[in-house]
Amino acid sequence: DLKGQVAVITGSTSGIGLALASAAAECGAAVVLNGLGDAATIEQTRSDLETRTGVRVLYHGADMTKPDKIADMVAYAHKELGRLDILVNNAGIQHVEAVENFPNDAWERIIAINLSSAFYATKAAVPIMQAQGRGRIVNVASAHGLVASPYKSAYVAAKHGVIGFTKTVALELAQQGITCNAICPGFVHTPIVDKQIDDQARTRNMSREDVMKNVILGSQPTKQFVTTEQLAGIFLYLVSDLGASANGSSYSVDGGWTAQ
Ligand code: NAD
Repeated sequence: DLKGQVAVITGSTSGIGLALASAAAECGAAVVLNGLGDAATIEQTRSDLETRTGVRVLYHGADMTKPDKIADMVAYAHKELGRLDILVNNAGIQHVEAVENFPNDAWERIIAINLSSAFYATKAAVPIMQAQGRGRIVNVASAHGLVASPYKSAYVAAKHGVIGFTKTVALELAQQGITCNAICPGFVHTPIVDKQIDDQARTRNMSREDVMKNVILGSQPTKQFVTTEQLAGIFLYLVSDLGASANGSSYSVDGGWTAQ
């Protein structure tokens, strides 16, 4: 039960972020959504979630490459909703290319959105959580925060960075009722992955079905995509009172990928 709590979830207009935001709202937390997309679609998502759950659902369009906008988003949540209990650093993008050809701007954007935004949001959220004496920070890393795959240099570097950042924040705040953990999903069939299925099908001249089974799920022993509901399960544990001793850790939900 998260009644009376307030959650900010970055990159929550789609995919995993939207699933975690929905789970928080279903458990009674007021939510600030964030992410890119068509304004009318985002407003529809926001109002649907608010109507379905009966909690307040707000939206802030901070671009995760902009430190001042990220700080604004956290301040907005606190001002409008009066508290901040849960921060989920989830926004992320991908680019797949050999390191020698990897575009500089793709590297910079991935580091900014997938790693630095977690720092800026955490930096803004921690003083509010310290004043409350309680808080939960959940970083959506990846199996690629623990192991690598070729052609994903920026993504793998950023996600390994997120896990290091998670551990550091956890140690700093351990005696203040604030925890910081990372969730490490395997492949989840969201838009970020759907685009990779198309790209791989084109470059490898394979069908989408073949790419899904033999490329994308090639390293996932279950040969099944992880579902967003399964990620919501571990998320709700980490933000609950029962999650108080879970701190500075990475929680793999990857169908056995990193067991190999
Ligand atoms: P998605 O593409 O569905 O969602 C990404 C979200 O980030 C969207 O809401 C998008 O608008 C937002 N976003 C992108 N750039 C942004 C920016 N500059 N400013 C603000 N928001 C921005 O993808 P997803 O699969 O739900 O990914 C969510 C997170 O989970 C990412 O960090 C991703 O790396 C991670 N992840 C995904 C998988 C997977 O298989 N899908 C696996 C492991 C980790």
